[in-house]
Amino acid sequence: MKRYRIALIPGDGIGKEVVPAGRQVLEAVAGAESGIGFEFEGFDWGGDYYRAHGAMMPDDGLEALRGQNAILFGSAGDPGIPDHITLWGLRLKICQGLDQYANVRPTRILRGIDAPLKRCRTEDLDWVIVRENTEGEYSGAGGRVHQGFPIEAAMDVSLMTRAGVERIQRYAFRLAASRPRKRLTVVTKSNAQRHAMVMWDEVAAEVAGDFPEVGWDKELVDAMTARMVNRPASLDTIVATNLHADVLSDLAAALAGSLGIAPTGNINPEQAFPSMFEPIHGSAFDIMGQGVANPIGTFWSASMMLDHLGEPEAARRVMEAVEYATADPKLHTRDLGGAATTAEVTEAVCARIAAGAGRPLATA
Ligand code: NAD
Ligand code: MN
Repeated sequence: MKRYRIALIPGDGIGKEVVPAGRQVLEAVAGAESGIGFEFEGFDWGGDYYRAHGAMMPDDGLEALRGQNAILFGSAGDPGIPDHITLWGLRLKICQGLDQYANVRPTRILRGIDAPLKRCRTEDLDWVIVRENTEGEYSGAGGRVHQGFPIEAAMDVSLMTRAGVERIQRYAFRLAASRPRKRLTVVTKSNAQRHAMVMWDEVAAEVAGDFPEVGWDKELVDAMTARMVNRPASLDTIVATNLHADVLSDLAAALAGSLGIAPTGNINPEQAFPSMFEPIHGSAFDIMGQGVANPIGTFWSASMMLDHLGEPEAARRVMEAVEYATADPKLHTRDLGGAATTAEVTEAVCARIAAGAGRPLATA
């Protein structure tokens, strides 16, 4: 029996509802004769911790995470605390501190989901967006001077390093090469941003030389939004900067049916540090505490986590159960137009995993 140490960080808002649901699904996998087990450690970091201690997480928090095999995260964002404090104090601190430089966001239309693009067939939309996760527009470099005076100046510096650009391009080309279509689109804005984005393009062309099997092209980020809507089948693997991919992946999530479904992994590819998996949605203030949050994004994230841990069969079992649930309109939460609760969806997915115990499940 293989045992994995998993850190659970629910954070704020509906993170406190979907992360416990994710734990239940992992426990169902562990119980289902999969040969794997989990030791969970919970961390109560987030807005409540901030009110009590003046920080979103303790100073030595990263140390406590280093010994884990992986992290399942909910959301950072509290109605009573400015967003830049919650985000930088928790999620970005972990991503940067554990060098999780590749943010990976698979997108496809799950069984039974009514996606908004009427001309798009399910098989037309099967993307993985790779987002640079440690520098670029969200490097944190910058500052404010003359604060409060009429001459106040403020600056966010988009900082790109050759090493940082090369490692994310290399990760994206490698991922593209591992997928059936072997196709990569490099998103850029080198027409307007004439320094760092030009280097971004140059490095992409250099790295491409090492991956002759990958067909690749370049797209300006503004044109990319239209292409995602009009020609989804022309895309497969996509690599973009921190800001560009942040925006494009919310669009991708909406095109695939709902923000409540979309998963992501913050990956340290060298596995020198644990990677962190989370639904892409935030705290959802409008529905928090009601028990109606869609937990599917967290389940899919847990499946990505299992894949990353080297447990593809367990990962596949979770996704089979997830698509069993999405295929049934009675198991759709409000964001999908249904009336199911978080608990109902979670119980159905866990029961499906348990029912498949000990035998390979049919793929969807
Ligand atoms: P949000 O994702 O929290 O909510 C956007 C909309 O989508 C809301 O109407 C919400 O009800 C709905 N929604 C999101 N997830 C859902 C789910 N699982 N089930 C059903 N409906 C769902 O985005 P926002 O409103 O822009 O942000 C709210 C807070 O969350 C802010 O403080 C923001 O900074 C934070 N946030 C955190 C993260 C993160 O930690 N990764 C990501 C995005 C936003
Ligand atoms: Mn975002």
